[in-house]
Amino acid sequence: MARRTKVSLVDRLLSAMTTNADLLMYAVGAVVAAAKVTSRVQASLDDVRAMTKDDKSPVTVADLASQAVIARMLAAHDPKLILVGEEDAASLRRDDHAAHRNATLAAARLAMPEMTEAELLDAIDLGNAKADNTGFWTLDPIDGTKGFLRGQQYAIALAYIVDGQPVVAVMGCPNLSSDPAVLEATPLGNGCVFTATAEHHTRCLPLDSALAATDVRCEPGARPLVVCGSVESAHSNTGWTGRTLAALASSGTPVGAGLALDSQTKYATVARGQADAYLRLPSRPGYVEAIWDHAAGALIAQQAGAVVTDIDGKPLDFSTGERLERNRGIVCASSSAHAAIIEAIAQEAPDRATQRGS
Ligand code: AMP
Ligand code: MG
Repeated sequence: MARRTKVSLVDRLLSAMTTNADLLMYAVGAVVAAAKVTSRVQASLDDVRAMTKDDKSPVTVADLASQAVIARMLAAHDPKLILVGEEDAASLRRDDHAAHRNATLAAARLAMPEMTEAELLDAIDLGNAKADNTGFWTLDPIDGTKGFLRGQQYAIALAYIVDGQPVVAVMGCPNLSSDPAVLEATPLGNGCVFTATAEHHTRCLPLDSALAATDVRCEPGARPLVVCGSVESAHSNTGWTGRTLAALASSGTPVGAGLALDSQTKYATVARGQADAYLRLPSRPGYVEAIWDHAAGALIAQQAGAVVTDIDGKPLDFSTGERLERNRGIVCASSSAHAAIIEAIAQEAPDRATQRGS
């Protein structure tokens, strides 16, 4: 008994010695390695389809290989890793999924050439941990799977959460330009990685490591609001968003052209002032946002100076397991635009709009 107490004290001391800056360093290495894998798979969608004889397999392969690489690289620094990942290896372990398994292993080996099949499956399943409020990682190995399959934007989103708040965030955006004045990376796959910690400002590192990291600031300047939303209409309430933007315009806030993007790249565009706001209004009753869809993006936007809340203006609460049970939707906006947006969303809520007959 005495021995167990002693070990746990040593563990606690060791974990207290690991700073958020250390965690950030490990996480950047892992996300950059995964980005190499996902970019290569996205550049060869048809080859992967031919290998697996499955039209949607490239996203499965890239998702699982990305999770395997990140989990294994994080575990190398922390044998007691707690990782809440979006994926698990259950389907890949099935006898009839050998083609998917082989394709996923081939993809993961682009970053970790020595990886065995058993290591691949075990690494993916490291992501099955339960959220633990003393500190855990959450990962969306490919956020924006529909964008990935269309050859468009997606993100590799990794965050470390302590006491319900993300404190370390790394978001790989292989198809987002590292130039904040430009949207798309050229060539695709050669984009950038955003980083932030609770103590450090948001930074952008080009995946082409020949270029230096830059500070990211949410300082959009005076212009009609640029509002970012999902490409997929099922993921946000488009009618409510439209009424909100019309209400803003009629109350004296000019609204310009919208920006539709897949994945948490939306947070990055607000973080660097390319958009003024990212709105995600609940589209169907009962849907609760997943932590891995927001933890990294939210910290990256906040540490650049943006304000991130739910649609009621409440801070996001990451202490309720895999889902944001205490929040509804997302509003990420520059500090000058946020309050007016929250007010317009409330004014145009579906129940109030129905009462008015609009
Ligand atoms: P986006 O790329 O912003 O459209 O969001 C992609 C994410 O939307 C996926 O990772 C899903 O977890 C999430 N999602 C799926 N269904 C819904 C829904 N009904 N409302 C909001 N998000 C959803
Ligand atoms: Mg996602």
